[in-house]
Amino acid sequence: MSRPCHDCHALLVTCMDWRLHPQVEDHFSAMLDGPFDLVAVGGGSKSFAEHDESGVGAYLLGCVDVSSRLHRITRVLLVNHTDCGAYGGHAAFESLEAELERHRNDLEKAAALIAGRFPDLMIERYLALVLPDGEGWRVEVRPLDPGPGASETPSTSDKSRCLRAS
Ligand SMILES: [Zn+2]
Repeated sequence: MSRPCHDCHALLVTCMDWRLHPQVEDHFSAMLDGPFDLVAVGGGSKSFAEHDESGVGAYLLGCVDVSSRLHRITRVLLVNHTDCGAYGGHAAFESLEAELERHRNDLEKAAALIAGRFPDLMIERYLALVLPDGEGWRVEVRPLDPGPGASETPSTSDKSRCLRAS
């Protein structure tokens, strides 16, 4: 009996904040035509950006390595979010623009670090806007400008390398 395919296309790195889940996963499930690995830690890519390789940063790099070797991913999706407790929330910033700028910078640093270690992976950066919505919260995921990393999108042949139907 053949074993089902275990590959997937991407690793999603985001924050543990409950307000993001499952909205962020739903967003990428709709965007990607296949499954993806997921790692959620406080601050998302903050530890990458701070080169915290002794702790969470090293753990995250290990996750990229595992996804890359075991599941042959081609993309890493970095998703930070507004009002993130690891950054002190909205209150830590003078303005929304300052908050967005900090996340853009951290996501850029994180993407550069991953691209340096894993040059074959495409690194994509996203920001999830966490917005009050009545009694609850609403999440809007926005792509940021292309960052460092492989510039080509995965080819069709690469996407279909896993013959699930067989
Ligand atoms: Zn957070």
